[in-house]
Order: sequence, then structure tokens, then C-alpha cells
Amino acid sequence: MSKTSLLYQRQLLQYLADGNFYSGQWLAEQLGISRTAVANYLKELKQHGLEIFSVKGRGYKLAYAIQLLDANKINSLQLAAGAQILVQHITDSTNSQLLQRLQAGHKMLPGSVIVAEAQSAGRGRRGRSWYSPFGANLYFSCYWRLEQGVPAAMGLSLVVGLAVCRLLQSQYQLEAKVKWPNDIYVNDKKIAGILVELSGQADAGCDVVIGIGLNIGMPDQSRQHIDQPYTDLRTETLQQVDRNSLVAELQRQLICALQEFAAAGFAPFASEFNQRDVFMNRKVSLMAKSSIIGICRGVDTQGGIIIDSGKSTDVYYGGELSLRSGE
Ligand code: ATP
Repeated sequence: MSKTSLLYQRQLLQYLADGNFYSGQWLAEQLGISRTAVANYLKELKQHGLEIFSVKGRGYKLAYAIQLLDANKINSLQLAAGAQILVQHITDSTNSQLLQRLQAGHKMLPGSVIVAEAQSAGRGRRGRSWYSPFGANLYFSCYWRLEQGVPAAMGLSLVVGLAVCRLLQSQYQLEAKVKWPNDIYVNDKKIAGILVELSGQADAGCDVVIGIGLNIGMPDQSRQHIDQPYTDLRTETLQQVDRNSLVAELQRQLICALQEFAAAGFAPFASEFNQRDVFMNRKVSLMAKSSIIGICRGVDTQGGIIIDSGKSTDVYYGGELSLRSGE
């Protein structure tokens, strides 16, 4: 996107963010551009998932008021010394952006974060996509160093899930659950997903990019893009969410949990994970090379999933496995 488009879109959003009607003519005058240009900039935002209504005689209006991400506000709340926060408007994927920076040799402090208003190519695991409409949610990636090396990545991903649950509990009193290995559920619906990606050597300490997509206020049209039950903070809390303080608080909770993990590994987190396991003692099917059916018994001290098939109890490790309800 050109710098001019970015600038005009941000300016239009400063007005529209409050959820009130603004006429195309009035907006055009404020920005010193034509009405057609206003219509085109808004059309582009609509294509990125922002819900905008246009009503003849009244103008434009957002379906819901939104709070734009603001690097200065986040920085003023930031509790992690020295770690950077970078805010992007529309990006491909915040994880890809961080990985590119690492590959280009940029030096960053662990705990540094990129957030964006929208992702055009948000990713889940194994090529699945993460629907990332504009201004609606949190698309957050954090850089970290995994000194224990690649084998510890599994535990790290589970710890990230717990950090998100702790955040939802402390800020919104939500009973958040984890679905091994990388999803967060509230009321049996997915509210957040985690994608941990590694960069660097496999045997030594490596750079890690931790991506978190947390739904705050999903537009109605999201249903067409997501093939499983999902929810968001607006539905679950009926509160207005301050996205800037949520970014700062998520970064704080995450760094706290990651430091604990760096010092002591996954074992101290295992019982907390098991208390929050959405499938604990429920029938599951684990999609590996073939499908394994049994009762989920939580995780072991390494973060592997324990499944009781009736004949034996086995532990499964590895990021390529996928757990589903067996009921
Ligand atoms: P698993 O990772 O256990 O195999 P998964 O189907 O949840 O299961 P992920 O890679 O974690 O897979 O997430 C991608 C999936 O999440 C998509 O295929 C889609 O069904 C769903 N999804 C995409 N965007 C969102 C969103 N914003 N909120 C909730 N769910 C989403």
C-alpha cells in the first residue's frame, strides 16, 4: 500500500472510529480529497473486513465503534523494559513480518512485538488460514529466544496458551480453556489461536516468533470464512475492549510466563494446563498418520498429550498432530 493511501485511510478512520455517521462530502472536505477518493479508500478497508455501511443521504458509518491501535499509547503502558512495539496498518502476516526481520539480521530484544490492524494472509497451522478482518481483533507476534533449543518448542507453545488464558481470566474473568497444542476456547468456542514458528539452527538456541490471534469483535460476515465454532471478547464480556492496553498487558503476561518457562521448563505448568484442558477426561480423536481414539488425560511434564485408548495409555508429541472431539 502507498504511503498516501495509508495516510488517508488512517485519517478517515480517526473520524469513523466512533461509530457515527459521516457524509462523504464532509469527509472529503476534511481530508482535502474528492468524494470518489473517500469512497475508494473506504472500499479498500471494506475488502479487508472492516464493516462499513453507506446509507444514501446520511453517509458512512462503521457497524461498531473501533479503537485504532496506537504505538504511543501502547508504549506509555508498556511494562517490558526496552522491548519494541511496532504497529502496522495492513500487513500479510505479523509472524511473516517478524521472521523477515530476523532473516534480514535486524537486532531485536526478546519480547518485542508487531501488531497489525488487519492481515491479508494470516496463518494457522499446516497452511490453514487465520481470518483477520480490519480493526476487529488482535493480530500479535512476539520475538523470543529459545535457549533450550528446538525440542523445547512444544512446551513453549503450551505456555503461550496459558499466558493468554491468564490474561483472559485476570482482565475479563473468563474461564478460558486450552485445546492442545495451540488453541484457546471460551464456552467451547475458539477465541484465540497460537502459531509458534522457529528461525535459526535446529540444534542450538533458536529465534522464535510467537503469533497470537485473539478475537475481540468479529464482524458478522466472519461466518463465511471460518468452518468451526468461534467467539470473541465482545460476545463473551459485553464490554468495550481497550485494544491498546490489551496489547501491553498481553506482552507483559507473555514475557512473565516465558521467563518462568526459560528458568524451569514446562513441568511447573503441567498441572495448570491440565486444569484448563478443554478435552480433559473427554473422548477425543488424535489425527496423526492414522486416527487414534481414546480419552484425553491431559499432558505429561514434557507437554505431550496423554491418551487412554482403553488398552493402553500413550503419550504423543509433535506439532503435526491435531486433536478433535471424539463425541
Ligand atoms: P488444530 O490446530 O488443532 O489442528 P485448527 O483447525 O483449530 O486445529 P489452526 O491451524 O489452529 O487449526 O487454526 C486454523 C483454523 O482456525 C482455520 O482453519 C479456521 O477453521 C479457524 N479460524 C480461522 N480464523 C479464525 C478466527 N479469527 N477465529 C477463530 N477461528 C478461526
